[in-house]
Amino acid sequence: MSRALAIVNCAQVVTLAGSNCARSGAGMRQLGILNGSALFIENGRISAVGARPEIERRLGRYDELIDAGGRVAMPGFVDAHTHAVFASTRCAEFERRCEGATYEEIAAAGGGILETVRQTRQATEDHLLEAALRHEQWFLRNGTTTAEAKSGYGLTLDDELKMLRVIRRLNDGGRMHWVPTFLGAHAVPEEYRGRRREYVELVCEAMLPAVAGQGLVRYCDAFCEPSAFSIDETRAVLSKAAALGLGLRLHADQLTCSGAAELAASLGAATADHLEQTGASGIAALHAAGVQPVLLPGSVYALGRSRYARARDMIDAGLAVVLATDFNPGSSPTPSIPMVLSLACAQMHMTPAEAITATTINAAWSLGLGHETGSLEAGKRADVLIADCADYRELAYFFGVEHAWLVIAGGEAVWRR
Ligand SMILES: [Zn+2]
Repeated sequence: MSRALAIVNCAQVVTLAGSNCARSGAGMRQLGILNGSALFIENGRISAVGARPEIERRLGRYDELIDAGGRVAMPGFVDAHTHAVFASTRCAEFERRCEGATYEEIAAAGGGILETVRQTRQATEDHLLEAALRHEQWFLRNGTTTAEAKSGYGLTLDDELKMLRVIRRLNDGGRMHWVPTFLGAHAVPEEYRGRRREYVELVCEAMLPAVAGQGLVRYCDAFCEPSAFSIDETRAVLSKAAALGLGLRLHADQLTCSGAAELAASLGAATADHLEQTGASGIAALHAAGVQPVLLPGSVYALGRSRYARARDMIDAGLAVVLATDFNPGSSPTPSIPMVLSLACAQMHMTPAEAITATTINAAWSLGLGHETGSLEAGKRADVLIADCADYRELAYFFGVEHAWLVIAGGEAVWRR
């Protein structure tokens, strides 16, 4: 049965409508705002955006009316980089960092990612799902309706498959839309210490064919960093993934400028993520190859650092910048895109409009979903955030506030205040 929903009395409808590709340059500031407008949804899809009387004349009846009360309606956020499935927390390690230990010292002593690997291996699939559902609830109440999620805390074939099945079960739950990414090359696990070549072989020859063969992933990622996987190792893993038909993303130039941005360009990756250390030559290479940068200021903030990615230079160079949370239990324990908007504007000198573009339509294109979500226009999935403010700039301006008033995913209310 067809079901029609009208959302009326919006101070602003931030549509981001009208582009067939990710936005770059001055285009990142064009939000396509309609003042005092309404939004109509039929069967989980947006059917019209515009002036209420005109739409009512054209579309006739609706089954449910939501009065937005002079608030802002905009696309649900798209978070293009998360590690949302993990067991336990690392709050004890966080306390040690507060006392002065560095992230690298903790990792070298067997903590960090490997601690989460131990906890995640021990967890049953059901327990892992329970933890992931708690995280999903946090994403929703912050206005995120689509997110990428990586494996990478299993690092055995069985444990990686377990994580990816949890992501599939999140999707089956039907509240948020999740895009699965395989990250077997996240760290060399303890049992392969001193045998890293064998571990890379395991990832390429056993894990990748299995996860791709079972249809559990859309992308493959690798942590390209001298302390994780070298340029050559990363190239081997991602080349194999491309041959299996997966899209490519990579953790690039987070801690050192190692040429990872150039590698992303040479591989034709969809995204290069982090890029805190990337300089002019890396930016030029990304631009020439059409790779989207995914910037993750939450991890810079949470690690107590000050060197953010050069967002301004990237936008000026014509890159279609994306912002994401990097939600994970170690370096970026936040699921909040509004927090990322604040960091992007206050620390990276992006404008609120650019930051909104980077967390909606540009993020959607980076996940191959630009025709499906990330903007409010007829035909797209009805993923809508109604924020409790009358001007979209408040989302980046007031920080530490829960802005979401109503969150709709696929036409269904999934969170309301
Ligand atoms: Zn990450």
